[in-house]
Amino acid sequence: MELSALGSGSSGNCFFVQNNKEAVLVDAGLTAKQIISRMGAIGKSSGSIKGILITHEHADHIRGADVLARQLNIPIFATKKTIQSSFLCSDSDLITPIKNDEILKIAGIEIRTFSKSHKAADPVSFSMRNGKTLSIITDAGFACENIISAVSESDFLCIESNHDENMLIDGPYPYFLKQWVKGDTGHLSNKQSALCVLEHAKSGLSNVVLSHLSQTNNTPDIALKTFKSLIKERRDLKPKISYSDRNIPTKLFKI
Ligand SMILES: [Zn+2]
Ligand SMILES: [Zn+2]
Repeated sequence: MELSALGSGSSGNCFFVQNNKEAVLVDAGLTAKQIISRMGAIGKSSGSIKGILITHEHADHIRGADVLARQLNIPIFATKKTIQSSFLCSDSDLITPIKNDEILKIAGIEIRTFSKSHKAADPVSFSMRNGKTLSIITDAGFACENIISAVSESDFLCIESNHDENMLIDGPYPYFLKQWVKGDTGHLSNKQSALCVLEHAKSGLSNVVLSHLSQTNNTPDIALKTFKSLIKERRDLKPKISYSDRNIPTKLFKI
């Protein structure tokens, strides 16, 4: 498999995963134009995309889904509650309901859906397997059993590292928003995701891409430092650690 985070953060999330000549997107939270242009920047064409998997209905995850699905004539996969709670596509034939605990096969990849805790109708994340296992986990209030299980099985992990806990508390967000972000249906902090990896990752974990970094309550430098300083307790764990940017796609990783 190959992976690039085309963009990640509250301004838009889209992960590109390719297997041989076929690909899927996890979320389409950038505009269709941005998604196609960023795929071009990593040397990929939109013709390879076989479907768009939607994690939940927040705008930063679905913004470009309607236009992209119609333009490329590809299906959008989302849970029934996510479909009901949002406008995903003006062509209903392009929408395929999925369950929040099933195994799909798209582009030759075995894709497991699982629920997580986030303030949305029926939020899910995805683990993808083709020999190796890749999990993409963002928008989660805490590391629930499903997330722990996905982290423990993963060879490659894109995991949310949304905020630095002190920056959030001291920052400009209104009180109610701070409470939500740090609560059980909000977002994983740098420390929460690092502790989850420290406690549950397998020693073969090769890469961690810190994702969905807040522009207000985090910096790439702080996220990377916090993560590295916490996981160094495990001497058997030596993943390459990087982060996904909101404006620039990551390199194309081979998994
Ligand atoms: Zn989000
Ligand atoms: Zn969200």
